[in-house]
Amino acid sequence: MGKIKQKLDRIVPNAGQRERDRTPRLVNVCSACGHDSAAADPLILDEGSRIHRSHTQNPNSGFYRG
Ligand SMILES: [Zn+2]
Repeated sequence: MGKIKQKLDRIVPNAGQRERDRTPRLVNVCSACGHDSAAADPLILDEGSRIHRSHTQNPNSGFYRG
């Protein structure tokens, strides 16, 4: 279950994200920092929430998975 859930978290929005996705102006907005998606730093799903890819690559961000 653990591994499958981890995989699902990468591709399926969680309840909070689905709620945000109902608001068109929030669809392309990072749920971690509130800034828009960018070509150089696209949004990815992390534990079901859409955040900038850079957050997962920054050990100080709280989203880093090493
Ligand atoms: Zn962000």
